[in-house]
Amino acid sequence: MSEVAENWRRLRERVEAAARRSGRDPGEVRVIAASKTQTIERILEAAAAGATDFGENYVQEAADKILAVDAPVTWHFIGRLQRNKAAKAVALFDVIHTVDSAALGLAIARHAQARGTPARVLVEVNLAGENTKGGVAPLELEALVAALGNTPWLIVDGLMAIPPPVSDHDEAAVRAPLVALRRLLETLRAHAPNNAPLRHLSMGMSDDFQIAIEEGATMVRVGRAIFGERS
Ligand SMILES: *Cc1c(COP(=O)(O)O)cnc(C)c1O
Repeated sequence: MSEVAENWRRLRERVEAAARRSGRDPGEVRVIAASKTQTIERILEAAAAGATDFGENYVQEAADKILAVDAPVTWHFIGRLQRNKAAKAVALFDVIHTVDSAALGLAIARHAQARGTPARVLVEVNLAGENTKGGVAPLELEALVAALGNTPWLIVDGLMAIPPPVSDHDEAAVRAPLVALRRLLETLRAHAPNNAPLRHLSMGMSDDFQIAIEEGATMVRVGRAIFGERS
């Protein structure tokens, strides 16, 4: 068995254990293999091992891979998206996790309309006010979702966050932002516009996916635990 296949098998076990531990159906949790910098061969190894969803951070890097990987997989855009790349992202990806402004969301909607298929998006939240990261401030989230609610060409399907780094040994500090994102989603659901089913919580990476699953993640984005450390 390849290293990637072995990592995938172990990861699935841990995902399923975390789901059961928290009384959830493991089928509710999608593992998105974060494949930035990975070669097409490694992506195909992961797909052969059972991975069905891949996440990429850069539109151009992803374009080459998406063309080359002819396995039936779902592609997620998880990087920062510039508005001038929105058309290409809409053409390439099944889900865009990182909408953080009305301008970006409405640009995506325009390109989706031109293609005749609504675009599925998540809204990225910047939980800790970090300048180096994308994401809307929690206090501006509801207004942003309302602004995105005016178009039938977006399906606003949930929230995504990349919490600030903390020590893995401080479980409470790891858990707090994941709980915060879940609560934001719950609050938002009470006022959701018609185009916002808000079904998903995209949170949890190699070091915290088990806690994220305990806190309600439906999509965990895992790179190193599948592919090893990035060079
Ligand atoms: C790279 C990346 C991940 C995966 O991180 P790992 O620590 O390798 O599991 C998840 N989300 C985003 C947005 C990423 O860029």
